[in-house]
Amino acid sequence: MNPLLDIFEGKKNIRLDAFMSISNAHYYSTRDPFGAQGDFYTSPELCQVFGEILGLWAYDCWIKMGSPTSFHFIELGPGRGTFLLDVWRATQKYWTDIDIEFHLLESSPVLQKIQKEKLENILKPIHWYKSIESISFDKPFILIANEFLDALPVQHFKSENGLQEAWVTYQNNQWSPCFKPSTQDIKLPDATKIYETSPSILNFMKMIYEKLKQQSSVALFIDYGYAENLGGSSLQAIQKHQFVDPFAHPGESDITAHVDFGALKKLAHDRALNTLGPIPQSPFLTSLGFQERVHFLASKLDNPHSFLRASRSLIDPLAMGQLFKAFAITNTDIIISGFSNDKN
Ligand code: SAH
Repeated sequence: MNPLLDIFEGKKNIRLDAFMSISNAHYYSTRDPFGAQGDFYTSPELCQVFGEILGLWAYDCWIKMGSPTSFHFIELGPGRGTFLLDVWRATQKYWTDIDIEFHLLESSPVLQKIQKEKLENILKPIHWYKSIESISFDKPFILIANEFLDALPVQHFKSENGLQEAWVTYQNNQWSPCFKPSTQDIKLPDATKIYETSPSILNFMKMIYEKLKQQSSVALFIDYGYAENLGGSSLQAIQKHQFVDPFAHPGESDITAHVDFGALKKLAHDRALNTLGPIPQSPFLTSLGFQERVHFLASKLDNPHSFLRASRSLIDPLAMGQLFKAFAITNTDIIISGFSNDKN
């Protein structure tokens, strides 16, 4: 048994995107990675106001979409199901006598089980899917994905004696990155830097955009990311709340890359869809009343310090406030809340 090789079925030379995809599939399918005992925190796990405020944001979108009496609420990568429970707590008194179906995309059996235990008896009807192709998009929908895209695989290219693509090889009991000549037809925007791109994300988003074009609908993605690809690698891995070498613990650390929202925006505009953002998480949440709700809840607590500290990290520019971006896409011309600071 060699834990560094097993999940790759003996392969010792593998493209970077395949390495990331196999590592993350193993990582998520074998554990609950969240919280103090796990590897990292996400916004909904840190503060209930994140889900509550986005629930009200979704309700606002729904009204502006013309209050469809039958619609789908879709979440991609629901983690522990905490976000959806917070959404529901904030919105259930408004969404009465409405035919809402919940559709969840989750590839991990471990997390799906946790989600089922938490949500199955509360949100009805609710359905789980392992692939986006299986989800039914035949009704108007609101789709939300927090920290989903950053787990999808990226490719790296560089220009050195022609175009080279990043691979990962196993030698001397360890994995390390290397470059090999590529036959792909890609023109690098800056020949002096590594070019990071994610065909997986682009293809995934093409599918979502197709669905968005067919129904009056809104999709919101929140993730680590940037509006303009300035070149360079953003590949990173987290284990036990520490950054680790992305190649050192395949399948045992969370390997991510920052999302190129600029590319997603262009792809949407090519399809005549409207986009909002990307804008940093801090102004997005703040304009939706995040701080007011946090202070209201804190005022009910005897000792609000840890609650306030955790809540603050969502909007602190040095924590998640700046690096995380909110990006929305819609086929309607409704004014989506939260993006009044959008300078794009
Ligand atoms: N949205 C949650 C969890 C983010 S972690 C939160 O904010 O707390 C990423 C989530 O996406 C996990 O639930 C993981 O199992 C799921 N996931 C990762 N890659 C996936 C894939 N390719 N298909 C479906 N789900 C995936």
